[in-house]
Amino acid sequence: MIRVLTGRVIDGNGGSPIEKGCVVTEDERIVFVGEEAAIPAEYAGAERISAENGSILPGLIEAHVHLSWAGANSINWINFTPQMEMARALRDMAYLRNEGYTAVRDMGSGCVFLKECLREGLIDTPRIFAAGRILSQIGGHGDAYQKITLEASEKVYGPAFLVTGVDEVRKACRINFRNGADFVKIMTTGGVFSQGDRAGEICHFSRDEIRAAVEEAENHGTYVASHAQANKGIRTALENGVKCIEHGFYLDDYCIDLMIKNDCWLVPTLSIMHTSKVYNESNPNVLPELREKTLRSYEAHYRSLDKAHKAGVKIGMGCDFVNDSALGCTYDKANMEFERMSAAGFSPMEIIRSVTKTNSEIILMQDRVGTLEAGKLADVILVEGNPLDDIKIMCDADNVKTVLQDGRIVKDIRSEKRA
Ligand SMILES: [Zn+2]
Repeated sequence: MIRVLTGRVIDGNGGSPIEKGCVVTEDERIVFVGEEAAIPAEYAGAERISAENGSILPGLIEAHVHLSWAGANSINWINFTPQMEMARALRDMAYLRNEGYTAVRDMGSGCVFLKECLREGLIDTPRIFAAGRILSQIGGHGDAYQKITLEASEKVYGPAFLVTGVDEVRKACRINFRNGADFVKIMTTGGVFSQGDRAGEICHFSRDEIRAAVEEAENHGTYVASHAQANKGIRTALENGVKCIEHGFYLDDYCIDLMIKNDCWLVPTLSIMHTSKVYNESNPNVLPELREKTLRSYEAHYRSLDKAHKAGVKIGMGCDFVNDSALGCTYDKANMEFERMSAAGFSPMEIIRSVTKTNSEIILMQDRVGTLEAGKLADVILVEGNPLDDIKIMCDADNVKTVLQDGRIVKDIRSEKRA
């Protein structure tokens, strides 16, 4: 089936838009991108979908989610039954698709098992690029320590493997790959929410353990991403072959140089820090030290991102999740990351390039998705208005009128406007 989409084309590469453009799709592929006036004759009579005064973009890619965790906390997420976890993941992906996301990178959850369901056609969701279970050290960010016993923390099918030593690291990586994982996620520092984490110059995992994860990932043709906030944990990860830094609160010039030299990505996840700050400021029950840690991290995070941005580090885009449903923030608000990136000084075009092209590189699918080009898969969205004039229109899912994935229309609310 051939479809002709007309409107302002923003192709994801970062160049000037085509104001009166068109994208032609045939079955699951894009076959033409250019001026509407230059449309090849053979497509002229095909079904047309007009964005009217709106814009045509590549399908969005979310580079940091934990499907099923939104609205959970560190104790109830380890208690989910697999059925509950999968049901929540499907709900999350329905939200994400409604916002225009046609692919997600899952940074640790059981939803790696949904990939096979997708392949079999049992479910219809965005593309999934998944880590499987995270690798954490005992007492690390993936260990619900100080809340449950170590035995319970190790046994439960929680979000993380608690591993010690090179052999256990290798085994956990291989189990993940066996289960269909696409990359490896480790945690080389604690986090804002892990109670009892020592702030400051910490690093989790030894160099040998990090190197073992990197070797296993590279043997599998992929890479390691690390949850890394404190400088020492970021530095050690980068020095030992980690390719993608998540959060990155305390980047210094040395880390930034290494990231550029090693062609690494940074996924800052501004939304989770923003909502945490708002929550911690307004909730009187938050421990004073946690409130102070959040504020300190928040400020360091923006300084760090600004340095990386100015230095030309490749920056992807993902919201992470928020672990308190009182904030009302599940993945139906993933698109708030557009506003946060704008507040951090990124131009609308830079933001669009991050959430499309750069994120397609991060999910290792840059040959298939991420930009509007003939030959790529037809993951395309039609948006009301011009996000180059006001990027905040992307924060309202009602402005995402039509979503195509693999050339199939998976969302279409244009008729609601006419009716
Ligand atoms: Zn995360």
